[in-house]
Amino acid sequence: MSAIFSKNENNDVFLFDGNEKIGKKIYISGKGRCNITNSKEIYEFFDEINRNKNFLYSSLYSYTNEDILKFFDEYGLKTKVERGGRVFPLSDKSSDVIKALEKALNVKGVKIILNTEIEDVKLIGDKFQLVCNKDYGLFDKVVFATGGKSYPFTGSRGKGHEILKN
Ligand SMILES: Cc1cc2nc3c(=O)[nH]c(=O)nc-3n(C[C@H](O)[C@H](O)[C@H](O)COP(=O)(O)OP(=O)(O)OC[C@H]3O[C@@H](n4cnc5c(N)ncnc54)[C@H](O)[C@@H]3O)c2cc1C
Repeated sequence: MSAIFSKNENNDVFLFDGNEKIGKKIYISGKGRCNITNSKEIYEFFDEINRNKNFLYSSLYSYTNEDILKFFDEYGLKTKVERGGRVFPLSDKSSDVIKALEKALNVKGVKIILNTEIEDVKLIGDKFQLVCNKDYGLFDKVVFATGGKSYPFTGSRGKGHEILKN
């Protein structure tokens, strides 16, 4: 999502992933069905958050459940609402969520670079250099979207946290 929304007509955006494909964690989410969002009113979401509700306030109101469903509809994903307002792909396949994201990345023109683990990020002047298996030159900005460490076999093994700490 970060790569998709970073791309505009005037920039180049690269999405690097150490895995051989994108969205491996999404694939196992919702027991393989991916519970995308909930159809409740956005203010009701806060009743489900245990601690520090305010932290999520701007995120949830700047990009709502309706926005995410509109986004997926635009990229061909049909959805359905189940018990408790839970929204799933109509097909019950999380892989269709990944396909829609892949389509959005391709339509926007994001360059997807797979099998490329980022080992470190170096600041060269005011630009960033990625340390990985190939030289991709210098970048103006780097977004870390390296995930949490749960289910490391999906690709998030904590490297991103280490790099940020350094
Ligand atoms: C079992 C399970 C079920 C879930 N069910 C749901 C659900 O139904 N609905 C829901 O909304 N959420 C669900 N979640 C949570 C959801 O999957 C995560 O919140 C979401 O995937 C987080 O996305 P992310 O992009 O932040 O991180 P991730 O999905 O972890 O993606 C991070 C990516 O970064 C890559 N990466 C990491 N480090 C590097 C590096 N150094 N170099 C290159 N690439 C790197 C990884 O390979 C990975 O592809 C579930 C999670 C689990 C584990």
